Amino acid sequence: MDREWGSKPGGGGAASAQNEAIDRRERLRRLALETIDIAKDPYFMRNHLGSYECKLCLTLHNNEGNYLAHTQGKRHQTNLAKRAAREAQEAPTQPQPHKRTVSVRRTVKIGRPGYRVTKQYDPELKQRSLLFQIEYPEIEDNIKPKHRVMSSFEQKVQPYDKKYQYLLFAAEPYETIAFKVPSTEIDKSTPKFFSHWDPDSKMFTLQVYFKPNKPDPFKPQSTIESNGLLPPPPPPPQTQPPPPPPSGLLPPPPPPMANGSGAYPPPPPPPSGGYM
Ligand SMILES: [Zn+2]
Repeated sequence: MDREWGSKPGGGGAASAQNEAIDRRERLRRLALETIDIAKDPYFMRNHLGSYECKLCLTLHNNEGNYLAHTQGKRHQTNLAKRAAREAQEAPTQPQPHKRTVSVRRTVKIGRPGYRVTKQYDPELKQRSLLFQIEYPEIEDNIKPKHRVMSSFEQKVQPYDKKYQYLLFAAEPYETIAFKVPSTEIDKSTPKFFSHWDPDSKMFTLQVYFKPNKPDPFKPQSTIESNGLLPPPPPPPQTQPPPPPPSGLLPPPPPPMANGSGAYPPPPPPPSGGYM
């Protein structure tokens, strides 16, 4: 307590009232210093005369301490409350063009992974298969890509078509991609059906064998990509042809359009939502 004010600690008298006012202001200033970063205060302004203004209350202050004390005062607090109430009232009427109505993503996606799909024919098993190789060079640490099979009925991206099913691949932070394949039953009994994640090369491999139970020849695959939106119509199949059959074993004739070599289909529409 300052002795120069001529009052003993705890003493009464006229000087004491003045003292209390000053103490109060000082306490407010210290409180403000603790709770306010004046550099970030949007209402604090130093004018060209070297004094300070509160842009909210349009008050003048001859030093920072005075301004800080003001920010703890009733007038400033009331104006703050009024402004907050006004902003809260105005907020819902503001247009919100970017608000999503579909599912919200968990993470920021960085795009689609690169991939290669190879058509194969196993002369020994007389089965056709697909080899998927998906590259995830930027995959998050300690994450393994996941895959799953989704029926046409289950997916919501394309019209239902019982002739097809979908193979999905997901790994954060990549967008989920899906490949449309014939709905021929996948043979999970063979050891040649496998998936493998190589954390060194960041390549995920899935080999899918199809049961050879259908009388009609294996239809050409189309690949689609999707991250949840309706993709454009699938491009013509661009996968590699099956290896030539060994002598004496003639597989079903290859589909007429399966003679391209690996290429990528056009990019899908902008992402929205997800399959998984
Ligand atoms: Zn103010």
